This record gives sequence, structure tokens and C-alpha cells, in this order.
Amino acid sequence: MTESYLCKLNIGERVAALADECEARLADAFAPLSAVCEANLHKVLHAFAKNRLSDTHFGFTTGYGYDDAGREVTERVFADVFGAEAALVRTQIVSGTHAIAIVFQGLLRPGDKLLYCTGAPYDSLWATVGIGQGGRPPAATSDGDPPAGMTYGDSSVDVGAVDPARSHAPSQGSLADFGISYGEVALTPTGDIDYDALADVLKDPSVRMAAVQRATGYSERPALTIEKIAQWASFVKERRPDVILMADNCYGEFLELQEPTDVGVDIMAGSLIKNPGGGLALSGGYVAGRADLVEQASYRLTCPGIGGECGLTFGQTRTILQGLFLAPRTVTDALKGAILCGEVFSRLGFPVFPAAGEARSDIIETIRLGSPEALIAFCEGIQAASPVDAFVSPVPGDMPGYADPVIMASGAFVSGSSIELSADGPLRPPYNAYFQGGLTYEHAKLGVMSAAQRLVDKGLATV
Ligand SMILES: *Cc1c(COP(=O)(O)O)cnc(C)c1O
Repeated sequence: MTESYLCKLNIGERVAALADECEARLADAFAPLSAVCEANLHKVLHAFAKNRLSDTHFGFTTGYGYDDAGREVTERVFADVFGAEAALVRTQIVSGTHAIAIVFQGLLRPGDKLLYCTGAPYDSLWATVGIGQGGRPPAATSDGDPPAGMTYGDSSVDVGAVDPARSHAPSQGSLADFGISYGEVALTPTGDIDYDALADVLKDPSVRMAAVQRATGYSERPALTIEKIAQWASFVKERRPDVILMADNCYGEFLELQEPTDVGVDIMAGSLIKNPGGGLALSGGYVAGRADLVEQASYRLTCPGIGGECGLTFGQTRTILQGLFLAPRTVTDALKGAILCGEVFSRLGFPVFPAAGEARSDIIETIRLGSPEALIAFCEGIQAASPVDAFVSPVPGDMPGYADPVIMASGAFVSGSSIELSADGPLRPPYNAYFQGGLTYEHAKLGVMSAAQRLVDKGLATV
């Protein structure tokens, strides 16, 4: 890389040399990723061909949106790519949280219990489930421990007991408001599913849905690999064939050769401004799985009687499908960026999760920065290397659904898109930065160098 170019991003020679050295060292780790990328692209192309995608599908209807051929083909394509019977792929689904929420709300009924098998759900779902203080996760304790349920390593099982610290706000129509209870099985200290505890909890006949979160979320736990999801699915099905298996698939799409719905999960959901949108989708989410369950969810997306029959695409079909076409490659590049980020920051002396060589099933790299200054500097570095809003400085702020102030670096073409280069983290110990995205590997690499340089410049790291 030429020196003059690096100057423009204020990246010094030593940081650049470190990144190059890490990159060279990672050649063996990067090599097998292109085979996964190729296989996933093959799946996408096959689904396009099988469903006879043609440019007539890029038009759209108006009004009720009955019989929108483009919408129907899009949903068939997503279902086929994910090994599912059916899918809902809609711009009316505003986010990943919303996609997951309509699965819970559409499928669970009063008296049912939702059982999370990977500890507590992602922060933004607490209000939907009806846990936490007014739907907000409880703040970290003063000694820096994450709040109960926010981490793994505690094998105790909370089966829907109403902890006063997690009492819900009654006004928003959470699951709890409708008499749908919640329980969770914490992960083991190694981040695995606690099968002894799970076997016990599954004896509770009110358990109607068992869920896993594939990605890390705001934690240091490893992502759940497809192999582990498959093992979990058969474990639950063996004991409770009546229980619906659900996966929060956010950030997991196209990391491996299969998706949760390929290996026994009944229904899953995710966001189009993460992996499967390939950086092009402007908004939206998806639900995919067994046809009867996807239909049930559709009645919550719109209303009973209408379900998925209505809903305009507003001309987004082409962008969503082109994004899906690019997604295997985009995800591979983002993954390489995450691996490089881990290597560079561990060389700078910070603990990183996953560590080099560990199995991955999401695009997130967690860097334990240890101080608010370092977390802020990291995010400033990412922001400075962003294509949009590079001139602004991110500052910590309150976010709906999050207990602590959160700092976010995101200078994306699609606002809030985290398949684009981005980093964020709650301002609470241990001050973890969650790094993800990068539409191209080269951009992710520049982001990593920019973040490292910012820490070096502020005396928070030495290279
Ligand atoms: C991003 C994410 C969600 C949903 O987040 P949105 O910002 O609402 O799209 C849910 N679960 C996990 C694990 C996530 O990473």
C-alpha cells in the first residue's frame, strides 16, 4: 500500500505493517471461506432459476398488493435458499427485532411459555417478551458484572419466575401482558447449551416454543454453529416433538453451508439490513420456516384473515434480490474483516472473541477494550474510515431498548446497516466493541487500521 494513500486516513506505517503482517498470517484461515461463498452463491442462483426470476418481477402493484408476482417470487427464493417451506420477506418488517417479534406474537398463545436456550434474548427483544425494567434490560451492577441473564457461565435456570427486577411495562402489549410466560436456560461457561438443565425444563408442559440466538449479541459468547443448532434441534424434538423450534438468525446468514431451517429448526427470522440484504436492501426483514408457522406469523405482521396476501413491495424487489445475490460475497468479506480485526487487536494486547482459529457462525468480532476511552476511540476510528459521515465523531447516546448509553460508529449508505462497516458497544464494563460488516474486505481492513491508529494516537495502545 502506498504511503501517500495511508496518509489520507492518517494511518501510520507501523499500524499498516501490523495489518499486512496479520493478513499474511491469515491466508490459511481465509482460503476455505471462498468455497462457502461459492456454494451459497450457487444456492441463490439455483433458487432464482428454479423460480424463473425475470425482470417482469421487478415491477410492483399498488393498493392492497394482491397477487404481486415479484413479492411471491422473492419469498419463494428466500424459502429455497434457506431450505424452508415458506418465507415472508417484507419491507413492512421494520427490523430484525420486528421479524422475531411477529414470530413470538403470531405463534404463542396465553398460557404458553417461550423458552430461550441460549441465555437471555438480544436486548432489543426484552420489551416484546416483557422482561427487564419496563422492557429495558437491567443496568450492569456497579462492580462491572453484566446483569443477570446477560451472559453465560451461570447454569441456574430461571423458568419464567417473575423477578421484580425484570417486571415488565404493562402498557405495550408484551408477551407477558398476554399471559405468555418466559424462561431461559443459561449457557455453560464454555458458551454451550446446558443440556442437563434443558432436559429438566422441557418437562414443563407449558413450553410451546424453544428458541436459540445464533449470534453473539452484546456478549462474549461464541456464536452457535449450525452443527450445534442441529444438535439442539434434535435434542428438543426427541423429548418434545410438540415444541416449536425457533432461531434468531441475525448476522448468521451465509456464514456456513446451511441455515438453521436446513437442520431441523421450524422457523427463523432476521434482518435485511444485515447479511441477507447484501448491503443493498434499503430496509426489511424476513421470517422463514414451516409453511403453517410462517402463515401464523403473517397474521401478526398484518392481521388475521389477511396474512401475507397483502403488502406492497414499493419497487424494492430488485434491490432485495440483487442484495441476496451479492450477500454470499459480502458476508465472506465481512467475515474476513472480522477475523483480521481479531488478529490485529489481539496483537495489540486486547482480548478478542472469537479468538483466532475458533469456529465462527456470525460476522461479529468482539474486542474487550477495557475502558470507555478506548471504546470511544475505536468507534471514532471506524467512523473516520466510513464512506458516509466520515467527518462526524460518534458520541455515546441513549437507545430505545438498551439500558446503558450505546456508542455506534456507522457511516453507511443505508442508515443503521450493520452489514456495512460498523462498530458499537454499550458504555458498560468491560467496554466491549462489537465490530462487524464491511461491504468489501478492503474496506473492513481500512476500518481496522483506522481504529487501531486512533487507539495508538491516544496512547491507549502501542504498536
Ligand atoms: C441485530 C440483532 C437483532 C435485531 O436487531 P435489529 O436492529 O432490530 O435489526 C436481533 N438479534 C440479534 C442477535 C441481533 O444481532
